[in-house]
Amino acid sequence: MSKFSLKSQDKLSTCHPLLQKLFNDVIKDYDCAIIDGHRARREQNVRYQQGRSKLKWPNSKHNPMPSMAVDAGPYFEDKGIPWDEPNQFYVFAGYVLSRAKDLGIQIRWGGDWDMDRDVNDQFFNDLAHYELLSTQKEG
Ligand SMILES: [Zn+2]
Repeated sequence: MSKFSLKSQDKLSTCHPLLQKLFNDVIKDYDCAIIDGHRARREQNVRYQQGRSKLKWPNSKHNPMPSMAVDAGPYFEDKGIPWDEPNQFYVFAGYVLSRAKDLGIQIRWGGDWDMDRDVNDQFFNDLAHYELLSTQKEG
């Protein structure tokens, strides 16, 4: 059974309780790392300037506190987060989306924004990004 690093735990703690619930479940069977939770103004605008986010503060789902979005990816002992291997992120997302469905948590993944399960009709890939749908019921 894998577990989060302190850095990952710290970032996950800035996220909505449902995202915490989901990823605390995922980590049990799938080693992964939390890359980003809540982003303050300066961090968000740096991501925007780097082209890693399409949105300026405060329009990203990472900007509310707690964060309505989390960036996460698979983690391997020998290579860490495999940034240059997108297929690893696709496999991981399939697992995350399946667990979310089982737990009744409605999320959207940045590899399928329109949620039609076609990963090749994207205008922008953000393969580590998961966000709660705004229609999310509390509880
Ligand atoms: Zn994100």
